[in-house]
Amino acid sequence: MPVFFIAAQQVQNGTVTITGPLLGHLRTSLRIQVGETIWLGDERRRRYLIEVTRIGRHDMAGCVLEAQEGPTPSGPTVTVGQALLKGDRMDWVIQKATELGVAALVPLMTAHTVVRPRTIRLAPQQERWQRIALEAAQQAERWEVPTVSAPWEPSKFFKVQSPAALKLILSARGPGQTLASIPLPCGPESLVVIAVGPEGGWTSEELAQALECGFLPVTLGNRILRAETATLAALSVLQSRLGELG
Ligand code: SAH
Repeated sequence: MPVFFIAAQQVQNGTVTITGPLLGHLRTSLRIQVGETIWLGDERRRRYLIEVTRIGRHDMAGCVLEAQEGPTPSGPTVTVGQALLKGDRMDWVIQKATELGVAALVPLMTAHTVVRPRTIRLAPQQERWQRIALEAAQQAERWEVPTVSAPWEPSKFFKVQSPAALKLILSARGPGQTLASIPLPCGPESLVVIAVGPEGGWTSEELAQALECGFLPVTLGNRILRAETATLAALSVLQSRLGELG
């Protein structure tokens, strides 16, 4: 059963009130009835088992049967900078990267990105991506929802990352250590940032900018992977090494 996200303020004195899109989903798609139990989670990493006590036209109410605190995060926070992909492949990567535990995903408008911002409607697009991340996080029973930002220029993405983060740029042909061998940081305060290029690859200028900002080039081996394959392969290797997968 998924854990549906609500805002902490929706829980007051052992009672939960559900409105908005989640209400529609629970009522119409899942046909939840009074007396049934569901799991809800909030942004403070708290989960509640609730019993539905009332279903109205505009809201649903439930009482809290059980509350749980999420485990304290033990490993690094992972951010992915992903060159925009065509069609539904971006949606797919957002969904899968969420399942694999990323904390943030930043779409990048690289020089060789085929999808340009003027061809997509930015605000609704970002909302849709955020919704995909929310639904994937619910399905995966995550304790938090990753953030998906509006598309950025890669130069900005490279520059704003914390000096303390381990910053990696996946490069299909360049030199670079393998992701399997690079030393990883540990502890909940640590950060790992991975940049993945578009189908046309990074330009030499983008690579140079990234290296100047402290990114290390890494390879996933000799085969040239599609961008979305590279993202998932990288996250799988990383999460496995961090003890979060496998
Ligand atoms: N067209 C480019 C390849 C682009 S693949 C070329 O021919 O060189 C798309 C992106 O996936 C790359 O920019 C890189 O970030 C990542 N990628 C693909 N294969 C990879 C590999 N073997 N190692 C590391 N990154 C890889």
